[in-house]
Amino acid sequence: MRKRWLIGNWKMHGNLAANKALVDGIRERLPVLSESIDMVLCPALPYVSQMAGLVADTGIMLGAQNASDHLKGAYTGETSPMMLKELGCGFVIIGHSERRSYQGETDGLMGRKALAAIDSGLIPVICVGETAEERDSGRTHEVLGRQLDAAFGYIRTAHDEIIVAYEPRWAIGTGIAATPEIVQAEHAFLRARIAQRDADFAQRLTLLYGGSLKASNAESVFSMPDVDGGLIGSAALNADEFVAIYKALD
Ligand code: PEP
Repeated sequence: MRKRWLIGNWKMHGNLAANKALVDGIRERLPVLSESIDMVLCPALPYVSQMAGLVADTGIMLGAQNASDHLKGAYTGETSPMMLKELGCGFVIIGHSERRSYQGETDGLMGRKALAAIDSGLIPVICVGETAEERDSGRTHEVLGRQLDAAFGYIRTAHDEIIVAYEPRWAIGTGIAATPEIVQAEHAFLRARIAQRDADFAQRLTLLYGGSLKASNAESVFSMPDVDGGLIGSAALNADEFVAIYKALD
């Protein structure tokens, strides 16, 4: 039986006061976390230390939205995954579509970042997903397979811990979530693809869906057998919505 997960990606939002209000709001609505549903919050990088204080002793875990593929060195403006680990992060989002679109991140870079994160003691949350055009032209599986293979070229399935998030690019921030049937079909494809490398690992693997999930559509997506939880963007900035999505996992 796999655990269930809810990860909030706060993107480039928040400030000291808003972060505190949001964590307080989540805690008021959810004083105790379920033992079977883990929660991870990923604030903007400058607030990682503040957030480590805010979530201490709450059971909520901390993640970052990006990290370098290097552990240290002359890489001005970059952040080592080792630094994130030292500041209290346990997770890092890798290969988010906004980084692929706006920062030109490639499949290869994503694989190297995943490895650097693992080597630093972080769990990478590896995002894969097709564009609307790729889906419309019937290339979804080709794209997902290529992105997954790039990451798995670096992963040692015998002992590495990772999370994979299926985030169709046409669903992120658009208000148009994939249907539960599409989510299940693509999660089943991803799990089967990973099973070709290591069947046990594929069965253990946490697979999350992300893309315009809200309280109103979370339950139907979470009821799908290959869905282990969600990676939430906009709705993670609202305590009512985020906690309602968390409860939909129960
Ligand atoms: C995301 O950015 O990972 C995401 C899922 O965003 P949204 O929920 O806003 O679509």
